[in-house]
Amino acid sequence: MREATQDAVSRVDEARLWQRHMEMAAIGAIPGNGVNRAAFSKEDIAARKRLIAWARALGLAVSVDAIGNLFLRREGLERDAPPVMTGSHMDSQPRGGRFDGIFGVLAGLEALEAIQAAGTKTRRAIELVAWCNEEGGRFAPCTMGSAAFTGARPLADFLDVKDNEGIPLRDALRETLAATPEAAPRAFATPVAAYVEAHIEQGPRLEMEGKTIGVVTGIQGLRWFNVEVFGETAHAGTTPLSVRRDALGEAVAIIRALHELGRGMDDSYRFTVGRMVVTPNSPNSVASHVLFSVDVRHPDPATIRRLGGAVEPTVRGAAARCAVKITPTLADDPCVFDQGIAGEIERAANALGIASMRMPSGASHDAMYLARICPTGMIFVPCERGISHNEAENARPEDLAAGARVLTATLLDLANR
Ligand SMILES: [Zn+2]
Repeated sequence: MREATQDAVSRVDEARLWQRHMEMAAIGAIPGNGVNRAAFSKEDIAARKRLIAWARALGLAVSVDAIGNLFLRREGLERDAPPVMTGSHMDSQPRGGRFDGIFGVLAGLEALEAIQAAGTKTRRAIELVAWCNEEGGRFAPCTMGSAAFTGARPLADFLDVKDNEGIPLRDALRETLAATPEAAPRAFATPVAAYVEAHIEQGPRLEMEGKTIGVVTGIQGLRWFNVEVFGETAHAGTTPLSVRRDALGEAVAIIRALHELGRGMDDSYRFTVGRMVVTPNSPNSVASHVLFSVDVRHPDPATIRRLGGAVEPTVRGAAARCAVKITPTLADDPCVFDQGIAGEIERAANALGIASMRMPSGASHDAMYLARICPTGMIFVPCERGISHNEAENARPEDLAAGARVLTATLLDLANR
């Protein structure tokens, strides 16, 4: 490892990084150590102002694009060379934790602060980005900011989306942008040399294997469906079973059949029915209608395509007396990250004596969209028992700092190419 890189890495400050996590966790704090910081909410605005204040103290240039992605730039020697980018998101699930997303933003800030303190010059600029609305908890879908920035989806797709209160995204966005007038306007799809995102693992593997750094090889693909079963409501006491069209009874049979799709699958296979809405949802009435969700995931492109294609025939095959309707709601193919970036992350971890392992990501991340426009990689750090999207989400200060050190070394290497 070069001396300048070593100097910068040595300036990563575990206590400062932890303290900033706790300051951010206070914005939208909920009981049980959790965080509720919805996209474009007053809490989101407060977090943006906090981040901008830290960035300005470091002399970083602040800009924001039309969907509210916030960029903080440390200039390089070649101003025209595309920057190396790092970051993650600051919004949370309604009952989220203190580390999901915000770690990647604060680790990036810590890296920039360490590089700044060491006085290290880089050929390319390094930009820290806070992607807006990654979680999609208030305005669906998720990973909206990175989708718009990379051109995967046009901004117009999102402006009329409403939250549960009926507030359109365009209004909440306008308020959010107005709250930080110091941020200069910035275009979508500006060239990016490379993107590296740090994130808590949100699963138990690193902890189970006793490793500190996950070198993420890619993000598994997923297919989502809504399945509706149409029956007929009837009196539970008087209607013979032989003449019923019981939507809930058939939904259970269908779900059992869907579970069979996983027979013989490897350990990467994921299948979840996590939501069910029963009508009329009364103990002494036969159900007339059931809606349930299906979430299938796998990292192999051919496998996820086969599994996604099998859902509709399986549902139809298992339905007996009820009509069914299958609506696909999301189809993301697996994303394979750049081998070169993975190698850089691995080499940085090795040089720093930090134990790492390669692994796919089970969750979706903004990096998925960045991978479409530039070489991309991710750095995972462990979180306690793999718990995430939960108030109890926890991580150790030393692991967060280790992630920030590996990120610092990786960014410096990429920024000098
Ligand atoms: Zn996240």
